[in-house]
Amino acid sequence: MTTDPALVPLTSALCGVLGLLIGSFLNVVVWRVPRGQSVVRPPSACPGCGHPIRRRDNVPVLSWLALRGRCRDCGARISARYPLVELGTALLFAGVGLAVGPGWALPAFLYLAAISVALGLIDLDVHRLPDVIVLPSYVVAAALLAVASVADGDLGALVRAGVGGAALWVFYLVLVLAYPAGMGLGDVKLAGVLGLYLGWVGWGALLVGGFAAFLLGGLYSIGLLATRRATRKSGVPFGPWMLLGAWVGLLAGEPVWSGYLDLVL
Ligand SMILES: [Zn+2]
Repeated sequence: MTTDPALVPLTSALCGVLGLLIGSFLNVVVWRVPRGQSVVRPPSACPGCGHPIRRRDNVPVLSWLALRGRCRDCGARISARYPLVELGTALLFAGVGLAVGPGWALPAFLYLAAISVALGLIDLDVHRLPDVIVLPSYVVAAALLAVASVADGDLGALVRAGVGGAALWVFYLVLVLAYPAGMGLGDVKLAGVLGLYLGWVGWGALLVGGFAAFLLGGLYSIGLLATRRATRKSGVPFGPWMLLGAWVGLLAGEPVWSGYLDLVL
């Protein structure tokens, strides 16, 4: 697909602003979904005094800075994680805007960026990848990628997405069945979603993205063991590594894979 290169920086900037707003919503998702609460009602309130958060105190990043990280009503501390999640989501969205550019594929990858932030943080917090986020993502991702494939006239990408989703799902299922202590069914379900995206981008992305999760997660575990911050039995959630590995595959998988083939062949 060809787009005007001049539109890319503008796309990236707009995605960044969108990311601030989505990041603010993801803070709510990350807090409420593991607790089984609605993400739309009631409106956000201070956990200290229960006072509803005013609209002007709910501006991403800026309100936290203006309030110096404290509730306007009771002075309770507001964790720096909230503005950091907003800022991180904004940077991720801006990066996706830069990498994908304006076009039909952009919504699909912004959606993946949003669920990556939510699922990564929830898995770190409570060692779970909630079905209420992962299962609908199959439908959303398939629909958005299908729209992009049809609009770009690349139905091969859609076939690859289906194969990629199935392949990564089966691969993780085999791993979980072979070694149930290592991972959970939540990881298997997430693998299918990530495989859709990786396959859509290409076979190199799928292979590199699938492998990168184990490389990054493995290096981190070795680091933890080496510095004795963990024993062999400490449960390290694997979801964040799957997500990080997938992004490596999506952004760098194709060039890395062709470079590897050039080297070997
Ligand atoms: Zn308060």
